[in-house]
Amino acid sequence: MNWVVSCTLCGSSYVYESGQGLPDMCAVCYEKGKKEVKKFLEKEKKRKEIVSISIPGFANRKILRTLGIVSHEHIFGVGLVKELDLAKFNGGIAISWAEKVHSGRDLAIKSIEDEAIELGGNAVVGVEIVYKVLGAHNDMVMLLVGATGTAVMLGD
Ligand SMILES: [Zn+2]
Repeated sequence: MNWVVSCTLCGSSYVYESGQGLPDMCAVCYEKGKKEVKKFLEKEKKRKEIVSISIPGFANRKILRTLGIVSHEHIFGVGLVKELDLAKFNGGIAISWAEKVHSGRDLAIKSIEDEAIELGGNAVVGVEIVYKVLGAHNDMVMLLVGATGTAVMLGD
């Protein structure tokens, strides 16, 4: 028996033959979905393999191609009253601030790594991190953490 059902993704109607198991998307979306999953997994693999370093090159691996500059600015706010809690000062270090700045730095690096992957690279060299206080607004201090580097393609 055949059923006409509509795809949950693109809304187009398609014929569903019983005995196939009930798919909730048309064949086109199904193939597209499979490809996207594959693309996503490939990108995740590349994300695990990519290396970012602050020096211009690797001692043991050759740069095959220079792909261009990658950069990202991560801007975030830190609350003054709530988060500048004296109890959280540890040897003069504001823990919650340090954590935020650190995660901002990680995010900025991940973003330039993603950009490098998009360019076909597997490493970022000459990475520089900048920190800037942009200003304060209603007990919030706006901070900028920026990362720049050069995306490259490394040989094995
Ligand atoms: Zn569809």
